[in-house]
Amino acid sequence: MRVSQMFIPTLREVPAEAEIASHQLMLRAGLMRKLAAGIYSYLPLGYRTLRKIEQIIREEMDREGAQELLMSALLPAEYYQQSGRWEVFGPEMFRLKDRHERNFCLGPTHEEIFTETVKNEVKSYRQLPLILYQIQTKYRDERRPRFGVMRSREFIMKDAYSFDRDEKGLDESYQKMYRAYCKAFDRMGLDYIVVDADTGAMGGSGSQEFMVKSDVGEGVIAFCDACGYAANDEKARCVPQEALRDEENKPLEKVRTPDVKTIEELTDFFGCSPKLFAKTLIYKADDKVVAVMVRGDRDVNETKLQNLLGCIELEMADAHTVREITKAEVGFAGPIGLDIDILVDLEVANMKNFIIGANETGFHYKNANIGRDFKATMVEDLRKIVEGDACPQCGHPIKTAQGIEVGHIFKLGTKYSKALQCTYLDENGKEQVMVMGCYGIGVNRCMAAVIEQNHDENGIIWPVSVAPYHVIIVPVNTNDEVQMGIAEEIYKKLQDAGIEVMLDDRNERPGVKFKDADLIGIPVRITIGKKAKDGIVEYKLRKEKEAEEKTVQESIDSAVQYIRDNL
Ligand code: ATP
Ligand code: MG
Repeated sequence: MRVSQMFIPTLREVPAEAEIASHQLMLRAGLMRKLAAGIYSYLPLGYRTLRKIEQIIREEMDREGAQELLMSALLPAEYYQQSGRWEVFGPEMFRLKDRHERNFCLGPTHEEIFTETVKNEVKSYRQLPLILYQIQTKYRDERRPRFGVMRSREFIMKDAYSFDRDEKGLDESYQKMYRAYCKAFDRMGLDYIVVDADTGAMGGSGSQEFMVKSDVGEGVIAFCDACGYAANDEKARCVPQEALRDEENKPLEKVRTPDVKTIEELTDFFGCSPKLFAKTLIYKADDKVVAVMVRGDRDVNETKLQNLLGCIELEMADAHTVREITKAEVGFAGPIGLDIDILVDLEVANMKNFIIGANETGFHYKNANIGRDFKATMVEDLRKIVEGDACPQCGHPIKTAQGIEVGHIFKLGTKYSKALQCTYLDENGKEQVMVMGCYGIGVNRCMAAVIEQNHDENGIIWPVSVAPYHVIIVPVNTNDEVQMGIAEEIYKKLQDAGIEVMLDDRNERPGVKFKDADLIGIPVRITIGKKAKDGIVEYKLRKEKEAEEKTVQESIDSAVQYIRDNL
């Protein structure tokens, strides 16, 4: 395509609203434009890359025997009501009514609809297993849409669903999807790790996330270099760090601590490490109020807590509730005398002679001991993992990193098939519930993640596989007939070889053209300048600093070879 005719509205300035590289570059390189918070239009260059990412995913899904179909984004409420998710999604679901006042939503994910479809059409064990997928627009009214298409309110997801006769079949389908995901992300040029994830309220038997390590990722990964353990921070298991301190039980002592509420104020006041405190946090779990105890310097892992309690809503109790339960101002909660369930983290169960709130404004207790001074309703792993914790698998120090979740695979089991009665008849004519898995990839998020991992100060450095075009030809002086002759020759020959080529035929200064070529990140640039009269051009890869001189034919051959090798 000739650049003079292309719609590529590049920007010189960094748009103020964009905080991260991929968002800035997608706007600056003219790949997309914002329409409203979390809603974007893809412009021609951006859409080409988006389609290539879709195509890579499609090919890898098809290779594993998954079959593509397409469902509506506008969905009747009844299936989500049957599964219970009409409530569970809460404000994240876009809801609307038709002219007859019937409820609809814009699909946030399609488990219910796939299950319904398979239920209606598949009756016999002979028709299983089945893996169906679509690449389709999803809608979620995210609380905080941000980082451009990384977390948007409308996005494209590849969502797949597997239907098997039993758990063993599910394991096989899951492995197929695992392989397809690895291949697809490899082909996109993403550097990712696969981590164990929480199955949570969905109740499945296993789940993994594909995380692209990046400082702008909203997920936290805990991993071990020694044994390969990797889990997201919601799932990562914590082992108690220190065994019971080898100390006599000291007598419980009430201490006046006026205006000392936070852990920082307490450590100052008592002049000791936060490791000697146990904080008591009051939570509201659906309609129940519970107390959770973790060491002073730890955070509660709310996912673990929610799983333990099996609740739908979980939040810290408001000040009013805290006052009512503890009979004290916020900041003085403690376990002694509380008549609600007290859930204690493993690590706290290992502590001795520690400091706790006294449930009385302005007071704490010193030398508290579990068992003697208060009873735990339950002792469980309830805290968030941190860097340096012992690996739950091998004991080596854990490392943490931020990551972008680009994909998620999930063994659902029978949650949806049971709720929607998706059954089949087995060899003996007996009715059985199908066993399901679901598998998602965020297509737009992949595009942003590729840019996060492949850019420099001048712009995007597209991997060949997803570049909107492969080669850009830049004649330095468009009024020079020799230069333009060679540019046209290379343009034609590359096109004939099946290479996707741009010819920058704009009458612009060369500096402007080079800047644009770097910004939009085309993998190969062929520049035709003064040496054109000697048949010499300049050949440069976007990812390399230096250019090479080549004859016209060499530049064509090198480009074709390079693109074919890297597709
Ligand atoms: P997150 O924790 O980031 O909100 P999720 O767990 O809600 O993700 P899933 O429901 O598993 O995501 O969706 C499958 C995939 O869709 C995710 O792995 C992610 O790549 C993508 N995705 C989810 N929400 C968004 C969004 N708001 N914008 C862009 N992509 C998204
Ligand atoms: Mg989400």
